Amino acid sequence: MNKKKITLPDNEIPRQWYNIQADLPNPIPPPLNPATNTPISPDMLSAVFPMNLIEQELSTERWIDIPEAVLEKLLMWRPTPLYRAYALEKALDTPARIYFKNEGVSPAGSHKPNTAIAQAYFNKVFGIKRIATETGAGQWGSALSFACNQFGLQCKVYMVRISYNQKPYRKMLMETWGAQCVPSPSPDTNAGRKFLAENPEHPGSLGISISEAIEDAVTSKDTRYSLGSVLNHVILHQTIIGLEAQKQMASINEYPDIIIGCAGGGSNFSGLALPFVRDKINGKKVKVIAVEPASCPTLTKGPYIYDFGDTAETTPLLAMHSLGHAFVPAPIHAGGLRYHGMAPIVSRLLVDGLIEAKAYTQLQTFAAGVTFARTEGFVPAPETNHAIACAIEEAKKAKEEGKEKVILLNWSGHGIMDLAAYDAYLSGKLEDSAMGDDEIQKLLQDLSKYPKPK
Ligand SMILES: *Cc1c(COP(=O)(O)O)cnc(C)c1O
Repeated sequence: MNKKKITLPDNEIPRQWYNIQADLPNPIPPPLNPATNTPISPDMLSAVFPMNLIEQELSTERWIDIPEAVLEKLLMWRPTPLYRAYALEKALDTPARIYFKNEGVSPAGSHKPNTAIAQAYFNKVFGIKRIATETGAGQWGSALSFACNQFGLQCKVYMVRISYNQKPYRKMLMETWGAQCVPSPSPDTNAGRKFLAENPEHPGSLGISISEAIEDAVTSKDTRYSLGSVLNHVILHQTIIGLEAQKQMASINEYPDIIIGCAGGGSNFSGLALPFVRDKINGKKVKVIAVEPASCPTLTKGPYIYDFGDTAETTPLLAMHSLGHAFVPAPIHAGGLRYHGMAPIVSRLLVDGLIEAKAYTQLQTFAAGVTFARTEGFVPAPETNHAIACAIEEAKKAKEEGKEKVILLNWSGHGIMDLAAYDAYLSGKLEDSAMGDDEIQKLLQDLSKYPKPK
């Protein structure tokens, strides 16, 4: 009998994370201090992050041990199952074999708790009592609330006000796990008060929420800030996905020809792909595709530049593909993919030709998500639909070429809290928007004063 689910027993959970910084053909350029255009020093970050995570951020050690206390928590839902998508293959009448790694089985419903648990643990052992963060649609805020609760830390989440009002379920989830969630801009910080004075009903933005959370972290006792994607240490924590998938594929004598993940800040894509990119650096043939929304085409249309990580220009300059930090993406339902930049690691891999990128429109991705739900049953998150759209296109290509391709995709999360988006799609209310080249040029004008990454 062919296997539907390829599982790993608890005792085969990977015990180390893989750090691709040890193997990159070209190292990622250092973050710069925007005031001087010179590399920042680790202690400049120490008001924001605990030093043990800053060390991971800069480490070039290939393997980093996962602490026992972190493994114990990850075992609540890991190793996650790898599924063969027989029903989807049949519906597409493709000779391709499609596998998906189900990260939707975590308590918060996505890959995000993989790093939330690790970050909460490293803050805890560093003596931190409280973490402040931002959240857009609420996926990161809920993952960190869960993780802080597991390690007995307080958690405060600044949630973009428009989402706070429109999407109450993620907020309820955060409160269920004991976190405090406030709409941002809030009256609790100087940054928030400034925006509220301009407009008491300010809808907020991710950039404003980041500014509030960082201000909270640097001005409160025993508090640090936490980010759910983009940074090297976040990507490190997510590599457990790909390390498990390698064991699972090997156990059925398969190796992927094509690896696919959706990319917002780049962490779930990297988590699955990087252990395989290591094989590719060592000579293996594998195609690796990061998928993004046509309305936020960071990798496919943004240049490789130094830019700020946030709208309010509080972060160091990062070397990355970017649409400019002033960019406000269209309000698509894949909230987790609405970010102007991309992880420096993912950006570097694209520059060096080790990965490729594709963009799909919102309607294309929901069509793919509905096809998936009506074959494989599980309802994917709107972000995940991007990876599925690409996998379906590759499976159709395999059919045209008559090739038995093996496709592996990261099923980054479930869509049970995003049903309003499916409702909008099914009732014909969803719209497409793509970004024009002149709009991108305009956004990038102000960034020409910063150095070009080499
Ligand atoms: C947050 C999120 C993403 C995008 O974030 P990355 O850091 O690029 O992985 C993708 N899928 C789901 C389900 C998410 O919650």
